[in-house]
Amino acid sequence: NQGLGSWPARRDRMTPDRVALTYRGRDQTYRDLRERTYRLASALAGLDVGRGDRVAYLGANHPMLVETFFAAGLLGAVFVPLNARLAPPELRYILEDAGASIVVLGDGYDGEGLPGGHLTASAYEELIAGGSPEPVDEPVGQGDVCLIMYTSGTTGRPKGAMLTHANLTWNTVNLLVDVPLAHDEVTLISAPLFHIAALAQTLVPTVLKGGRAILEPSFDVERTYDLIEAERVTVMFGVPSMFGFLARSPRWAEADLSSLRHLLCGGAPVPEPLIRIYQDRGLTFLQGYGMTETAPGALFLGTEHSVAKAGSAGVPCFFSDVRLVAPDGSPAAPGEPGEVYVHGPNVMPGYWRNLAESAKVLSPDGWFRSGDIGVADEDGYVRISDRLTDVIISGGENVYPAEVESILYGHAAVAECAVIGVPDERWGEVGKALVVLRPGAAAEAGELLGHLDGRLARFKIPKYLEFVPELPKNAAGKLLKAPLRKTYGG
Ligand code: AMP
Ligand code: MG
Repeated sequence: NQGLGSWPARRDRMTPDRVALTYRGRDQTYRDLRERTYRLASALAGLDVGRGDRVAYLGANHPMLVETFFAAGLLGAVFVPLNARLAPPELRYILEDAGASIVVLGDGYDGEGLPGGHLTASAYEELIAGGSPEPVDEPVGQGDVCLIMYTSGTTGRPKGAMLTHANLTWNTVNLLVDVPLAHDEVTLISAPLFHIAALAQTLVPTVLKGGRAILEPSFDVERTYDLIEAERVTVMFGVPSMFGFLARSPRWAEADLSSLRHLLCGGAPVPEPLIRIYQDRGLTFLQGYGMTETAPGALFLGTEHSVAKAGSAGVPCFFSDVRLVAPDGSPAAPGEPGEVYVHGPNVMPGYWRNLAESAKVLSPDGWFRSGDIGVADEDGYVRISDRLTDVIISGGENVYPAEVESILYGHAAVAECAVIGVPDERWGEVGKALVVLRPGAAAEAGELLGHLDGRLARFKIPKYLEFVPELPKNAAGKLLKAPLRKTYGG
C-alpha cells in the first residue's frame, strides 16, 4: 500500500509509543492508531466496503474521523468528509452525488433523513472491537483517489474535488520544504478537518513526522489559550478570523505563547493589521494561498518575507507552478492583474463524475484555473486581489450567492433578489441580501431569513436583508452586482 492508509503502520514501525492523537485529554499512540485503523478497515471490508467505494464521515474533529480516513485508505476506498455545518438538504445532495455506501456518524450526529448505510458512534466502537487486527493488504497506488472533498461553485451545486494519495503527499512535501516541522510538534487542530486546510496542512504532515495532533471539535478562544499553555502547543493553523478572535481576547496580553513555533494562516486574505499585532508579540505568520482543488497549497509566504511582502500570498510552492493569465490569454506583466492558474503534482485529476465542470477548470496539459485574480510584483510575489466569481468568504467558509439567491426565490413574496458580500470586522465578509418584493406582497426581513433556515447552512444565511425597489441590470437583463456593491456594500 503506497497510499496514506499505510502511514499509521509506517509510523508504528518507527515510533510506536509516541502519542499520535489527543482528544479531550485522552491520548492514542501510533501503535493504537495503527491497530484501530486495521480493525476498522477489516470490519468495513466485512460490511462490503472495498476499492473505490465512498466512505463518508459526518461530524466535527474527532479521532473517529482520522481513523475512518486512514481505514478507507487501507482499503483503497475513498474518504468523503462532509461539512458538518451544512443543512440536511445540502448533505443529502452530496451523499447522493458521491454515491456513498456508508456514512460514519460522529459523536452527536444522528444522520436522520440521510441516504446510505449509517454507522453510529456506538456501533463504530463495537465494529472496531470485533474487527481483525491483522494487516489489510490492498494494492493502493499513489495515483488512486484518496478523498473527495465537496466545494461549492458558481452554479450553486457543490462539486466533489477528487484528491489522490499523490496530491496529498506532494502537498506535504511542498509544506515541509518551507516549514521545518520537527518530530515533536504538538499541533492544535481546531479548524474543521472536513476542510482541506486543516486536513492537509496540519493533520497529514503531523502524522508524517510522528508528532502529536490535539483534536478539538470546534474553535473556542478560552480553550485555545488553555491548550496552548497546558500542552505547550507548537503548531496551529487558522483562518484570519480565528487569529483575530485570539488577538481581541483579554487573555492576549498575558498568555504564555512561548511554545508556538509555526502559525499557519490562510484561506482568505490576511489583513495587514493582524500581521502587525502578531509581529509585535514576536509571532510571524506563515501565510499561504490555495484551494481544495490544489490540495491546497499553491502560493506560500515564509516568515522571512512576511513583513516586507505583507499583503501578498507569496511565491509558488517548491514543486508547483503558478501563472497569471490576462483576459486576452497572454501572461500578465508584473503589476497587471491576471487569473491565477496552478500546475503541479498537488493539482486534482478532476471533479467526481463531472466531466463538464472538470473540463472548464483543467486544461489538457494540467493547468488548473482558480477563478481568483492575482497581481505579481517585480519579485514574483503574488497578491490575490479579486475573484472572478462573486463568492463571499465568511470566517473561512465559502458562500456562493447563487445558492442563497435560488432558495430566496423559492419564497412566494420574492420577485427578485441578489446577495452581495459586505466587509465585517469579525468574519472578513458577511452576506447581505437585497430583495424586491412582488407587487402587493408583504414580508418582513425576519420571515425571509427564516425561510433560509434549515435549507442552508447557517454560515450561508445573510446577516443583513434590505428591501429595495429594483435591481440594476444591463440591456440584456443581466443583474449587475458591481453597482449594488457600490450602493449597498458599505
Ligand atoms: P475553497 O474553495 O474552499 O478551497 O477555498 C479556496 C478559495 O479561498 C480560493 O479560491 C480563494 O478565493 C480563497 N483564498 C484562499 N487563500 C487565500 C489567500 N491567502 N488570500 C486570498 N484568498 C484566498
Ligand atoms: Mg473554490
